[in-house]
Amino acid sequence: MISEILKKQLIGIVGADRYKDDIETIIAHSYDAYVVEAKADAVLFPLSTDEVSQIVSLAGANDIAITPRGEGTNLSGGTIPLKGGIVLSFSKMNKIVEINTPDRYAIVQPGVVNGDLQKALAMDGFFYPPDPSSFPFSTIGGNVGENAGGPRCLKYGVTADYLLGLEVVLPSGKVIRVGSRNVKDVTGYRLTSLFCGSEGTLGVITEITVRVVARPESVRTILAVYNNLDDTARTVSDVIGSGIVPAAMELMDKVVINHVEDDAHLGLPRQAEGILLIDVDGEKSAVERQMDRIIEKARANGAIEVKEAKNDEEREELWLARRSAHGVLSRLAPNCMTEDATVPVSKVPTMIKGIRAILDKHSVKAGVLAHAGDGNMHPVITADARDREEMERVEAATAEIFELAASLGGTLSGEHGIGLAKAQYLPLVMDENTIEFMTTIKKAIDPKNIMNPGKFIF
Ligand SMILES: Cc1cc2nc3c(=O)[nH]c(=O)nc-3n(C[C@H](O)[C@H](O)[C@H](O)COP(=O)(O)OP(=O)(O)OC[C@H]3O[C@@H](n4cnc5c(N)ncnc54)[C@H](O)[C@@H]3O)c2cc1C
Repeated sequence: MISEILKKQLIGIVGADRYKDDIETIIAHSYDAYVVEAKADAVLFPLSTDEVSQIVSLAGANDIAITPRGEGTNLSGGTIPLKGGIVLSFSKMNKIVEINTPDRYAIVQPGVVNGDLQKALAMDGFFYPPDPSSFPFSTIGGNVGENAGGPRCLKYGVTADYLLGLEVVLPSGKVIRVGSRNVKDVTGYRLTSLFCGSEGTLGVITEITVRVVARPESVRTILAVYNNLDDTARTVSDVIGSGIVPAAMELMDKVVINHVEDDAHLGLPRQAEGILLIDVDGEKSAVERQMDRIIEKARANGAIEVKEAKNDEEREELWLARRSAHGVLSRLAPNCMTEDATVPVSKVPTMIKGIRAILDKHSVKAGVLAHAGDGNMHPVITADARDREEMERVEAATAEIFELAASLGGTLSGEHGIGLAKAQYLPLVMDENTIEFMTTIKKAIDPKNIMNPGKFIF
């Protein structure tokens, strides 16, 4: 609970127009793309690091929880204010501070939307590789909070691979700067990686320096169509096992194909059991050679058709099918849970078959999407969270999917984070000593547990 005295002090920092405790604002900032519900006591919209530092100091002194929030699109309950308190929205700290292409970095405030940074960089012939499918609306702060990935992370790596520096307000209110603007910097502990993926549990990120990359000279995009999901999955492990690294290799099963087609009428092959959407980018002659080999492998593994995008418009259309998939599925039922188990790529065929069998065994409705080239599976489960019996089946299926991933040497999350959704499964992939070590770090940095309490640790 925020007392009247504390409320006055907080308004003293941000002003009455950026302190909100009306029910509409509270509800609009207390949800995310997971199913748990809770309510914040107030939502604050800081404009500067100094304001954030003052707010966090006051919250600490009063034992008030803080939940940092980008656009609330995370899929694991990371922005649910479980203990009430303050939601810190970064929607007004959304400026691109600097783009420096000769030195290959960009500096942004946390509320900058990923897609806005991409647009700004494209004008200089550059791009920022981490591309969650939510890039048109998710923020760089949230991407850092979750260590987000995306389709082209197969070739380029995830958010942590592009972080050069961070400004962070610690739970004490102190401001630290970790990393730098240098592409090479091995000075001290790699603290950028400690905060990346910390889901707002260690501090509030107020400025982010990322590495940016020149756009590739050439791109080829194909859609390979299969009568059989096994053949689809085998193509993935065959291509990656041969040493070719496509920029992206996305899988969609029949359920996804048909729902996307119902919604968007893009001409997807409704009869197919699986499709692969594959991008190769880089220097023109290498792209030609690599894509020709991929097409050979797709056919050798049973593709019944391979369509190639002839121009940017056709490429965009194929990608629209993939990007709209999550939104289309999430409209099928009141709730949608996207799992994120990830396995070594040689295990993709076993995992895909296993996921389908588990979903069918528990009569759970789901389409299967995957950033298949890096083994990152997204069964998108649709259900009604008010239906206890249905949710028990969903929970049983989810647990079995994580157990299967762990048994194949995989992990719980490739990119969506742990949050509330997967905390209980940590012991499947982490031993007791490792979990205890993470708890020690959390306690050392945030002894009062004010930063996003209840998420994955402590
Ligand atoms: C349709 C759809 C498609 C998606 N596709 C992908 C995908 O391909 N790949 C992928 O990785 N994810 C994907 N996601 C998940 C989600 O978009 C990502 O996790 C994204 O990074 C969240 O960004 P956000 O701005 O919404 O952050 P939020 O959800 O608001 O926050 C995410 C986490 O970061 C913390 N946080 C936010 N800002 C700060 C800050 N300034 N300081 C400290 N902590 C902070 C929050 O407390 C929370 O724990 C998808 C989601 C949807 C709805």
